[in-house]
Amino acid sequence: MTGRRKIIKGIPISSGIVLGRASVVMPGDIRVPEMAIPHARLQSEADALEEAVELTVEELRNLQQSAGAKIGGPVTKIFDAQLLIASDYEFLKNVKNQIFSTRRNAGFVYNDMVRRTVAPLKRSNEAYMRQTAVDIEAVAGRVLSHLTGSEEPELRFPPNTILVGKNFSPGDILTYRQRKILGFVVAEGGADSHMALIARSLMLPVVLAGDAWRQVPNNSRLIMDGTTGEVVVHPTDDDWSEYQRRRRRQGPALITRIKRLPHIPPLTKDGVEVPVAANLSLPGPVDDILAENNIPVGLYRTEFLYLAEGSFPDEESQYRYYSNIAAKFRKQSVVLRTFDLGYDKMTDDSLWPQENNPALGWRGIRAMLEMTDVFKMQIRAILRASVHGHLKIMLPMISELSELERAKKLISQAKLSLRRRKQAFKEDIEIGIMVEVPSAALVAETLAAKVDFLSIGTNDLTQYTMAADRMNNRVAELYNPYHPSVLNLIYKTVSAGKKFGKPVSICGELAGDMMTLPLFIGMEVDQLSMTPNRIVDLCRTVKKIDSRLVKHLVEPVLAAGSKRAVKHVLENYRSELEKKKL
Ligand code: PEP
Ligand code: MG
Repeated sequence: MTGRRKIIKGIPISSGIVLGRASVVMPGDIRVPEMAIPHARLQSEADALEEAVELTVEELRNLQQSAGAKIGGPVTKIFDAQLLIASDYEFLKNVKNQIFSTRRNAGFVYNDMVRRTVAPLKRSNEAYMRQTAVDIEAVAGRVLSHLTGSEEPELRFPPNTILVGKNFSPGDILTYRQRKILGFVVAEGGADSHMALIARSLMLPVVLAGDAWRQVPNNSRLIMDGTTGEVVVHPTDDDWSEYQRRRRRQGPALITRIKRLPHIPPLTKDGVEVPVAANLSLPGPVDDILAENNIPVGLYRTEFLYLAEGSFPDEESQYRYYSNIAAKFRKQSVVLRTFDLGYDKMTDDSLWPQENNPALGWRGIRAMLEMTDVFKMQIRAILRASVHGHLKIMLPMISELSELERAKKLISQAKLSLRRRKQAFKEDIEIGIMVEVPSAALVAETLAAKVDFLSIGTNDLTQYTMAADRMNNRVAELYNPYHPSVLNLIYKTVSAGKKFGKPVSICGELAGDMMTLPLFIGMEVDQLSMTPNRIVDLCRTVKKIDSRLVKHLVEPVLAAGSKRAVKHVLENYRSELEKKKL
């Protein structure tokens, strides 16, 4: 089947390029025909429903176990919600009663009651309610497929299938992975949703692309690039070859690639080391290989521990969690960012205030400075774990000095209580901040004087500088870190670090961007921390760069008046690089 070529620009959620055929699935839109059932057969309808529910509970338990084995402890908690829903025997009793009173088939009655339950939840302003609706529908899909006695046709896929749909639960992602699905184009679920978290841990590409499910015909040829967010519908043969080439450039599976790292140290052509590090969110399949290859962790997003568990773990669980990380990476440093919750990273709205502008509201350090017990508990756990390796503490979303001072005071209090308890910790643990709000970058010198290190979060720095929500597809064009205003703030921060002898790293997505790499080497950024699958490419590109020459890129880029002008300077350099003239 051929059709008109179309490129949909979505938001990259989980990286990787895949080429295949689209299968459009709508997990929440199951339709079951209504059938009148004779009185004598009603009991067997009710029994069949009960059996389907039991099979679903068993299936979810198996998935939970397999998630635990593949990804690690905290993720298994995600399945608790679905298990709770599946085991709601009160609801089951109501459905059975309804089967008898309406004399209709079990599938129809069950589906109808599920739809009526989720409808108000789906309309709710509270993300928690909407997430519950997703979970209920995911459970219902499983129950109905057991009830009809056959796998839903869409659960049997030909090789090289890319799924296109509205939303997928973490359980769906795991199930589809077992069916060798290549990637997902979704309409709902931001970069930090549970779905994204699982997909990234399993290294499955995901693109968030509004109503792609309406635009992509079933069974059409499809290419998706989870690194750039591009989805090509009905690609031409040239597109196909081009993306195959890009995929080859991205190379084979991450683990195999990272094993090559010892052969490609990140040294420039003139022998200058460009320190690279990894961004991690949860324990995953690449941790060991990173540790074996002495790659430090430049950003550990600890809030995923909260997101995976749905609550704040107690001090002991956090201590064990951070200790395992510290021990795994041993001498390599691991920067643990304290909980950066709020904005889109919330699971339970009842704990969080409703806000008109959550991105500008109570998130990151702002919340922790009020939830001081939660903050101090996390700090105590990190401090205690610090004796098992080389941990550092990083504070997210610092906007001004007073926040840093208050956070440092709380850290001192946490230390004091550990001393009182006579528990060991590293007294001189390094404390740093993320520079991801323009106000912080503009007073970077003041902040640099008071910290051990700084790390630039280009994702939020871009969002706040450009006033463009990083999750909003409509303003994706504006949300662009190549804008000279963003690059000037980065330079200002790097210079402040140099002035005060404090290392400055970049840990937003831009750290793994090949286009800005020469610029950052020219600026002498101290470390680039990125999602693990960017590391090998970066090391390869570093080799081609002469650190003396790229210093000359800094001035024209900072003087550029637009992102186009910036791109022009960087692209010129890159094409020279590709011609190997430099
Ligand atoms: C950033 O904002 O660039 C960053 C690294 O933090 P996060 O993406 O988790 O907000
Ligand atoms: Mg951030």
